[in-house]
Amino acid sequence: MLDDALRALPKVELHCHLELTARQDLLKELLSAKGHRIDDAVFRRDYLITEPVGDLPTLLNIFLGHRDLLDSPEVVERMTYECCEDMSANGVRLLELRYAPSFLCDAHPSMSPDAMHAAILKGVQRAEQDFPIAVGLICLLQRIKTVQENQYWLDFAIEKKADFLAVDLADNELAFGPEVFAPLFEQAKGEGFAVTIHAGEAEGPQAALNIQKSIELLHADRIGHGVRILEDKAVLEFVRERGTVLELCPTSNWLSGVCASREAHPFRHIMEAGIRTTVNTDDPGIMNIDIMDEYRLLRDGMGFTAAEFAQINAWGREACFIPEERKAEVWPD
Ligand SMILES: [Zn+2]
Repeated sequence: MLDDALRALPKVELHCHLELTARQDLLKELLSAKGHRIDDAVFRRDYLITEPVGDLPTLLNIFLGHRDLLDSPEVVERMTYECCEDMSANGVRLLELRYAPSFLCDAHPSMSPDAMHAAILKGVQRAEQDFPIAVGLICLLQRIKTVQENQYWLDFAIEKKADFLAVDLADNELAFGPEVFAPLFEQAKGEGFAVTIHAGEAEGPQAALNIQKSIELLHADRIGHGVRILEDKAVLEFVRERGTVLELCPTSNWLSGVCASREAHPFRHIMEAGIRTTVNTDDPGIMNIDIMDEYRLLRDGMGFTAAEFAQINAWGREACFIPEERKAEVWPD
């Protein structure tokens, strides 16, 4: 499949962290407005992740550097709109964006969670008017925070139930297992939210098992990553039988050390083991990629065919939490 045909292919993007999608132009503009004059090499070093990062503190610092720049509703709205615009230009028709209200608001007390959320909605609505794309939001809870703190943000999501499709749980899955968060996700399900959980990403003996636990204890409808599923045959069988969709993010997995190269990503092996797989960007801005880069990787690095891309997107479309009527508006059968 040539690039033009690949770009035109209607796509689903299910796993993208809104806070980490800012275009480089926007970040540079914000830096310069704050009086920082940095050249391209320094920008690349301090604001992008383009090579595997060995240590967590370095990675975290880059994340926080982005966050600290996103300091007003105007900036958040622009970032949201531009993210949707870029996705649409690459053929994405169904886009789910997730964000952690706690992540941005912790750093910017002057921006209320309500104002930030309203800015995101405004960006989404403008984009949906301008482009053939349907966008849904997922509220992300953080494992590194207490259950009580997460309860606060779940209540925030419940209060804005009309705006959120689903709830997610992210951050260090090995130090903070799923068990303690079970009551929150019980409540989320009861409120009618769909659930997707980051699991099976980090290296550790529990990683693959976390996938199954997320489904059993947290009612996960989909799994964020799940890339370590091949490490446990019983978990593989469990997920295969259920047909649970994995939101795979190849470049992100390479950058966080899951595989030795982008081409060595086990995407094809997972799919051929009978698991429903989808391809996603995770953190496109900060990782200096777009969804086309991931499709090119699958095509050129793993030999994916047009039929396989169609299959991946059929699974993605089915597993997408956006209501069916809305899907049909932007992507008729
Ligand atoms: Zn993620």
